[in-house]
Amino acid sequence: MNLSTAPITILHFLPNSNPPYKLIQTHPSFSLLSKCKNMKDLKQVHSHFIKFGLHNTQFALTKLLEFCVTNQNGDLSYALSIFNTTQEPNIVMYNMTIRGYSLSSSPNLAIDFYEKLLFSGNQLNSYTFPFILKCCVKIMDTQMGKMIHGHVFKVGLMNDVYVHASLINMYAQTGEMDDARLVFDKSFQRDAVSFTALINGYALKGCIDDARELFDQMPERDVVSWNAMISGYAQMGRFEEALALFEEMRNVNVTPSVSTLLSVLSACARAGELKLGNWVRSWIDDHGLGSNVRLVNALIDMYAKCGDVKTARMLFEGLEEKDLVSWNVMIGGYTHSGNYKEALAVFHRMQHENIDPNEVTLLSILPACAQLGALDLGKWIHAYIDKHYQHLKNTSLWTSLINMYAKCGAITAAKQVFQGMKTKTLASYNVMISGLAMHGDAYEALELFRKMTEEGMKPDDITFVSVLTACNHAGLVDLGHEYFNSMIQTYKYTPKLQHYGYMIDLLGRAGKFDEAMAMIESMEIKPDGAIWGSLLGSCRIHKNVELGEYAAKNLFELEPENPGAYVLLSNIYAGAGQRDKVALVRTFLNDQGMKKVPGCTSIEIDRVVHEFLVSDIKHPQSNEIYNMLDEVDRLLEMAGHVPDTSEVHYEMDEELKEGKLSQHSEKLAIAFGLISTKPGTTLRIVKNLRVCGNCHEATKLISKIFNREIIARDRNRFHHFKDGSCSCMDYW
Ligand code: ZN
Ligand code: ZN
Repeated sequence: MNLSTAPITILHFLPNSNPPYKLIQTHPSFSLLSKCKNMKDLKQVHSHFIKFGLHNTQFALTKLLEFCVTNQNGDLSYALSIFNTTQEPNIVMYNMTIRGYSLSSSPNLAIDFYEKLLFSGNQLNSYTFPFILKCCVKIMDTQMGKMIHGHVFKVGLMNDVYVHASLINMYAQTGEMDDARLVFDKSFQRDAVSFTALINGYALKGCIDDARELFDQMPERDVVSWNAMISGYAQMGRFEEALALFEEMRNVNVTPSVSTLLSVLSACARAGELKLGNWVRSWIDDHGLGSNVRLVNALIDMYAKCGDVKTARMLFEGLEEKDLVSWNVMIGGYTHSGNYKEALAVFHRMQHENIDPNEVTLLSILPACAQLGALDLGKWIHAYIDKHYQHLKNTSLWTSLINMYAKCGAITAAKQVFQGMKTKTLASYNVMISGLAMHGDAYEALELFRKMTEEGMKPDDITFVSVLTACNHAGLVDLGHEYFNSMIQTYKYTPKLQHYGYMIDLLGRAGKFDEAMAMIESMEIKPDGAIWGSLLGSCRIHKNVELGEYAAKNLFELEPENPGAYVLLSNIYAGAGQRDKVALVRTFLNDQGMKKVPGCTSIEIDRVVHEFLVSDIKHPQSNEIYNMLDEVDRLLEMAGHVPDTSEVHYEMDEELKEGKLSQHSEKLAIAFGLISTKPGTTLRIVKNLRVCGNCHEATKLISKIFNREIIARDRNRFHHFKDGSCSCMDYW
């Protein structure tokens, strides 16, 4: 055995390096210690120590402790058993154990242990404080921290650089910025570590400008302080400043660390800075960091959030060792960019590969279920949450479940989840009220709003969007006015475009055009295309050609590329019998060759989501679907259904053919649902546009002819078709 390899690093801790220690440190058993990989190895070394009688020396025991608390395969409980069987442990052993607690999942136990140390008669030293203060941070115990501050003072270690920085860090991390600042200001030793601790604290509290002031005063900025500032800006949502600082950092040639790159990528993701993101990616590749999973995950996130899901997916597939975060950012990226089907596909693959989802996964996948109407998968997730997160304090999962159920048309299930929530949050009230409103349960939605305010919860502007939606879908003009006014007068919110939008739609559809125009003229913000569009829609219902033309003119200015505006206008002319003008608008529309938003309807069968476009023949069961559709049309005709061909629809091609009308995406989805489910099963479909009048009439009849409940969500609301009528009472 080579004696020269015996480690001696610990020796300088020991105040009494008397002769026996010198003998001990060169003992061959210590070289074994340096080769230890896990606790099994360590226990062997321990028995070696016992064999040679070294186990009674504090030097040997300290070495054992050091392994137990600092090695990644260490074991704090073994360290404690060594400590507890040592007679009169010295300060080094105490410090080592406190360090172990500070790294463990139970830093709170360090406090009792520290008290034990106080009574032991050992002299506290500069190695004691940084770790015990770290424990105070972990358990957010400022009181304890203050007491320890007193001990530092008493022992006379206020001028010790590390202790000093640890104190500032303790105050800063527990949010006591005044105390942190006091310690900082009183000292002459303002090294980079204390600066950074203080900067971090300010950034954490959101006082990023105070942080910046200090940062600018720093004589020498280390990479940690740059990171603190960049991530501070990023977390405050001040992405441009974060990125500008990164630029500055590169200009002064400070090499970014992995944390810097992570903060910068997150800022790029949220600011949509694809160009800089690309630069970071090549920097990562050039510096051989391309296999760092955390960085690749951040890149995937950045690309997905910047809209480049292709590159995101490529990086994801290229990752050999995907961790849970990789899956989460990929799924979240798809959800974020509206690629819900892909999000579901990646989630299914994750289940195939037996990777357990966590809360973040579920929070990313639930909105995709909601958007696609994937109720079966949503239910599966609900069961999963019940099993794994029953005592969940984080209410966002429950809120997300309510939203999913409501959007999938299962309003009763949504209500059950909501009622089961012990602590209802503002967000959960908001999704519940909005869900009820979308289902046309206006009075229940308004009743819940009343209950919420009675319980002392203050609604926010999103709540009022839901409340106005409820009034809008039920045509409650007077109540709408009342809530709109109370939002401004009682709650002092300035109405946003969405609030105005619902009010103007409500007034317009009730035919109160004078009031609608008065509101538009009173608006402090410029009305957007949606507002002019809804007014245009109201003019179509009430055959108001003059105001329709005015609204259309405004809409064309804002959205010249929106074919919907031209279609609506031509429908107004058609309704008024002005055929020459209809032809004029339609010719213009065709000449422009504007891209229409294709109507798309999805239906979930056995946890798989199927999507249909108008006249779609891509589905593998296309033949059966069209056979069913023929049967449906035959029965509809027998029931006296005559399609109304006077109007042009979003989905329609230039030729106005009845054949096409019967092949609207919702009818294809319904036909597919009829052949894929048992008789009597409720069909749930989701359409991306507003359901058209023809399909609405047809679906009412289909519900009666086939004795099926059909729950359809369109862009605005839900329609429950049953026994030949619809829950919207033809008002939508
Ligand atoms: Zn239709
Ligand atoms: Zn309806």
